[in-house]
Order: sequence, then C-alpha cells, then structure tokens
Amino acid sequence: MILKNKVSIITGGARGIGKAIALRLAEEGSLIAICDVNPEELDKAKKEIEAKGRHVLAEKVDVTNFADVQKFVQKALDKFNKIDILINNAGITRDGLLIRMNDADWDAVLNVNLKGTFNCTKVVAKAMMKERAGKIVNIASIIGIVGNAGQANYAASKGGIIAFTKSVARELASRNINVNAVAPGFIETHMTAKLSQDVKDAIMKRVPLGKWGSVDDIANTVLFLVSDASAYITGQVVQVDGGMVT
Ligand code: NDP
Repeated sequence: MILKNKVSIITGGARGIGKAIALRLAEEGSLIAICDVNPEELDKAKKEIEAKGRHVLAEKVDVTNFADVQKFVQKALDKFNKIDILINNAGITRDGLLIRMNDADWDAVLNVNLKGTFNCTKVVAKAMMKERAGKIVNIASIIGIVGNAGQANYAASKGGIIAFTKSVARELASRNINVNAVAPGFIETHMTAKLSQDVKDAIMKRVPLGKWGSVDDIANTVLFLVSDASAYITGQVVQVDGGMVT
C-alpha cells in the first residue's frame, strides 16, 4: 500500500471519475474525504469506500461556496489531523454554441470547474504549506487543450485549470507541494452518457487506441501523480486520451 495513512480530499467524489479516484487511493491505504452536491450518490460512495476498510468523511458541499469549502476542509483536518492530497475533480458541462450560450451556462461552468478549483486549492494549500508537503491534482480535459465547438465555456474553464495548475505549481514548489493536471479524453461516465450515438461514433474515429477510456484509467494516473514515484514532476499536464491529441 503506497498511500498508507495519507489523507486525501476528492471533490465531486460521489460518482464517476471522482469516486473511482477515491476508491483507488483508498485501496492504497489513504483515508478519504469526499464532497459532492449529490447526497444520495455521496452516501453510496461513502459505503463503497468504507468497504475498502478506510475511514471516510463524506459531506454535501458545493465547491463554488468558499465558506462551505472552508468548513469541509476544517472538518477533514479535525477528523484526520492533516491533508496530504487534494484532487480537484468536481466539474459540469452546459454545452451550446457560442451565439446561443446564455450567461447562466457560461457562469455555471466557469464557477464550478475553475472557481471551485481555486476555492479548494486556496484552502487546502494553507494546510499543506504548514506541513511543507502535499500533492494536488486538478482534473482538466483535452478540450482545454484543443477546444471543441459547442463547449466554449467548458474549454475555457479547463484551459483555465491548466494555466492555474502551472502557476500554482511554481508558487508552491518551494514548500514541497507538487501540483499537476490530468487531461482525460473521453471517459465513460454519467457526464458523457448524455452524448448522442452520432457524437460518440465521431469521437471514436479520432481515438487511435480505438476505445473509450475508463474511470480506472484516470484513477491510475492520479495515483501515480500523488505517489512518491512522481516526486520530481510538477506543473505538468498528463493526457489520458487514447492518443487522441498529440
Ligand atoms: P460526473 O458528472 O459523472 O461526476 C461529477 C461529480 O461532480 C458529480 O457527482 C457531480 O454532482 C459533482 N459536482 C457537480 N457540481 C459540483 C459542485 N458544485 N460541487 C461539488 N460537486 C459537484 O462527471 P465525470 O466523472 O465524468 O467528470 C469528473 C471530472 O472529469 C470533471 O471535472 C470533468 O470535467 C472531467 N472530465 C471528464 C471527462 C469524461 O469524458 N467523462 C473528460 C474530461 C474531463 P451532480 O451529478 O449532482 O452534478
């Protein structure tokens, strides 16, 4: 177990990629704190992670609310005494072509994806700086690298996360805190289940490995980035996309 007694916070950890990351880190010995806006899924995820034999804090928290993020992080500190790992995973889409995109859809995506990442990183970084150690992984997207018609808001938020990652990596490096991003391609989750079959077929033609990614593909990459094996890697974006973007 390479994360024995480490403490990990995963946002949006109730399902999809976030839950897979929480389960993978728990398998490697980490204690887990997850937050999400979906209480039913949160409860199910808590039980699944506990079944791995780890203590779990699971709280309904909207990452856009800075005060609630502060309370959640304090609860994690009260329960576990420290935070070693932060995974900024909570994210949403509100797709639409630019000329039809309304302010609400632009703001919601930028708020959850980018502001949420800022809120959680800001609060957790303080605790990590005191310990002079930490690992932060931000879940971006290949769409934040290459863009996508109909996803201007999402692409801007994920491109922002990449730039944020590189900047914060420079700020926190002297405190022995590694900050990296993972940019998934297309992964089978609730988020991508809503795509039409035509869109899915078109995407598949652009994936050299010829298959969709799984949540475990992302969880395994995150595990590497929070382990000692990646100690000399910071400010990087690791693409997990089946070779789609080169
Ligand atoms: P899911 O929708 O399956 O899971 C995301 C989770 O985050 C949900 O439980 C969701 O709750 C929760 N969430 C949404 N808003 C908030 C909020 N404000 N505060 C806290 N939690 C919130 O998505 P995925 O697992 O597919 O995506 C996870 C991350 O990976 C996202 O950042 C996404 O952009 C990124 N990604 C995913 C790809 C894919 O192909 N699936 C590709 C590239 C990147 P609820 O369900 O109630 O909204």
